[in-house]
Amino acid sequence: MSELRFNPFSEEWVIVAVERATRPESFSTKPVVKAAPKAQCPFCYGYEDMTPPEVHAVAVKGRERLPNTPDWQMRVVPNKFSALSRDIIPDGQFLDMASCSTTTCLAYGYGSHEVVISSPAHDKTIGQLEQPQVELIVETYQRRYRVLAKDKLVKYIQIICNNGKEGGASLEHPHSQIFAMPIVPKVIQTEIGTLDAYRKKNKKCLMCETVEEARKRDLIVYENEAFVVFCPLWAKMPFETWIVPKAHEARFEDMTEPKRQLFTKSLRMLLQKIYMKLNGPPYNYYIHTAPVSHGEDKPVDFHWHLEFVARLNTQAGLEYGSGVFINTMVPEKAAEFLR
Ligand SMILES: [Zn+2]
Ligand SMILES: [Zn+2]
Ligand SMILES: [Zn+2]
Repeated sequence: MSELRFNPFSEEWVIVAVERATRPESFSTKPVVKAAPKAQCPFCYGYEDMTPPEVHAVAVKGRERLPNTPDWQMRVVPNKFSALSRDIIPDGQFLDMASCSTTTCLAYGYGSHEVVISSPAHDKTIGQLEQPQVELIVETYQRRYRVLAKDKLVKYIQIICNNGKEGGASLEHPHSQIFAMPIVPKVIQTEIGTLDAYRKKNKKCLMCETVEEARKRDLIVYENEAFVVFCPLWAKMPFETWIVPKAHEARFEDMTEPKRQLFTKSLRMLLQKIYMKLNGPPYNYYIHTAPVSHGEDKPVDFHWHLEFVARLNTQAGLEYGSGVFINTMVPEKAAEFLR
């Protein structure tokens, strides 16, 4: 037997194989034995000149350091094969949707694409790093967000982490990526729309309500004073887990320092459990936050969050063709397993 479950944020259906469900342990991957860094890893000490010049770096405590040399604790560089670029100087016609013809809408690939190198350690994923280093990663996300958001042409900033080959990481050395885009992606527009519609209808926030519902249904993995970590009822991928601030807050980049510590704790706890219980599987996580604010009169009401998915099954024709995913890992069981 299976169950159709509706994701009220994305308005997508998921088929959850309630009875055919797989046992969580059977998703455990073979331990990944990471080879020693190949002679030339552009994210390892000593190969700094293999990346474009860094845009931000933090030196190891107490060390003097010149840009683009070793002894860094945190390093951010533009992607060498950047998907978007700020080299193009757009003219006044840039992204004027009104000027789009009926079937064609093209714009310059304007924007930026940066890489946040998790740490100098080639073989340590975020789940294996100490709390201060993970905090530094999160602080760096916020710091770069604020810098990139100053550009009036940037409408949305997407922070993501691809881990492992099946997770889409092209380089083995753990890293995250930040994309500054001149558009607001459909996923975000849809979430803004569904939150808005829910608020109009129920006078409440869909995310705040979802957290309450998750509690009633025993889907919570972990929580602290400021964050809830839970497996949503409509998870479309195995071990899909969301990290949500308890307070109704629209913007990730506005998170204060004490809350950042608690967010880091939540993220580290999740990635640590995933690493230990499933032998370091491939995964993705991404942060959904309100579009970049350029001082508009009416701020967007949103509830920011992080979505995590383990990449342990293949998406094929059904998923691409219909947008309907089949999840054989029942979220209720995933939550129990991760607790
Ligand atoms: Zn490396
Ligand atoms: Zn809310
Ligand atoms: Zn989302």
